Amino acid sequence: MLSPLRPDADYCVYCHAPAAGPCATCQALVCADCCELTGGEVKKVAVCHSCFRQGAGRVGWAQWSGVLGTVAIVVAIALALLVLVALL
Ligand SMILES: [Zn+2]
Ligand SMILES: [Zn+2]
Repeated sequence: MLSPLRPDADYCVYCHAPAAGPCATCQALVCADCCELTGGEVKKVAVCHSCFRQGAGRVGWAQWSGVLGTVAIVVAIALALLVLVALL
């Protein structure tokens, strides 16, 4: 090992192997074997298996659907206002 062993080294909460990093959703420390790399092409995020099963792996899609939903609502309101103005 090049780096000295740390007594407070972070270990995977699932298999107690040295952790690779925290889960993006629940912040639990996980090793490379106990997480799924997911996310978009640019930004990869590691999500632990239990969060991944609950759909957290589709963070990017959830964010996009949220944005698209907001845009759709704004467009709907704008159209409704246009119709009101046209009727008056
Ligand atoms: Zn692990
Ligand atoms: Zn998690």
